[in-house]
Amino acid sequence: MAKHTIVLIPGDGIGPEVSTATRRVLEAAGLSVEWVELPAGASAVEQGFDNVLPQRTLAAIQAHKVCLKGPVTTPIGKGFTSVNVQLRKKLNLYAAVRPTKSLEAVKTRFDNVDNVVIRENTEGLYSGLEQEVVPGVITSLKVATEVACMRISRFAFRYATRMQRKKITVLHKANIMKMSDGLFLTCARRIHEEEYPNIQYDEMIIDAGSMRLVQDPSKFDILLTENLYGDVISDLCAGLVGGLGVVPGSNFGDDAAMFEAVHGSAPDIAGKNIANPLALIMSGVLMLRHIHEDAMAAKIETAYKQVLSEGKSLTADLKGSATTTQFTDAIIAKL
Ligand code: NAD
Repeated sequence: MAKHTIVLIPGDGIGPEVSTATRRVLEAAGLSVEWVELPAGASAVEQGFDNVLPQRTLAAIQAHKVCLKGPVTTPIGKGFTSVNVQLRKKLNLYAAVRPTKSLEAVKTRFDNVDNVVIRENTEGLYSGLEQEVVPGVITSLKVATEVACMRISRFAFRYATRMQRKKITVLHKANIMKMSDGLFLTCARRIHEEEYPNIQYDEMIIDAGSMRLVQDPSKFDILLTENLYGDVISDLCAGLVGGLGVVPGSNFGDDAAMFEAVHGSAPDIAGKNIANPLALIMSGVLMLRHIHEDAMAAKIETAYKQVLSEGKSLTADLKGSATTTQFTDAIIAKL
């Protein structure tokens, strides 16, 4: 009998390609798993579901508590609400955790990047509360609640303690958004002072913080942000270590966890078998640690680092010419 039951959402665009690759690597590493494969996104509608986020998919994640998810497409400027935002809100996956760490074999401007973005996932400007007040005038509501700000702050300090991290920097814009970002800061300060005074704490206005990050990321450790800033800063941090193809992501709530890459469905390269599956494979490694399969996680990490160092089977984003399948085969051969 399979030891783990995991919901698998292949996703849209390059999603099916990178999720097949990840599934193959996890199984080749010995994961005993029953996959509950269900759709979300445009592919759900294509498969005959009446909704981009079918109730069956939500219910399966609620029941099995762990989900591996490929990227899904969201129409720009029109159409349905982002499936990602819906998933995070409906499952209350309030904390996005996105580690960005230099890979020895992937040469970038810096050798020593080791940051984690912790992003509030349920509110801010992602509340979807937009309206046309009068023709030509639109408002978009930024929501900050004490409950969510306290919850994400406590999560970040607890994460720092568990992962033996030293410092948390809150990136904010409370000089302009004095009340909403002000509340975020008040909550982070309170958790620091009252519950985790041993972890260093720092605050930086996000524009200046972004400049400092690209000048010297080693000055930072954990970056704690509200929703939109975390979205933007995650991609910035990805750029510091080699791009979206090499950074994993995870979303945690009190009842479930969902693992997905930071990147999107990359429609420009979808269906060509050239996407880098590593970001989702790395997200799979985070998932293995979450389900206490640490030895398997370490084995996969060693395998992909060897493939990266040999440099023969890299995908185009890492200046190679291998296909998604060839890169995946090379990792499996090292397991
Ligand atoms: P994107 O991340 O899909 O692509 C940005 C660029 O990076 C593209 O040039 C793409 O080819 C490249 N890229 C991304 N992943 C790659 C990979 N694994 N290997 C090689 N190259 C890769 O961002 P976008 O183009 O802004 O968004 C496309 C769609 O994805 C949109 O509908 C957006 O809403 C959605 N999206 C989904 C998620 C998610 O499901 N978590 C996250 C971000 C964007």
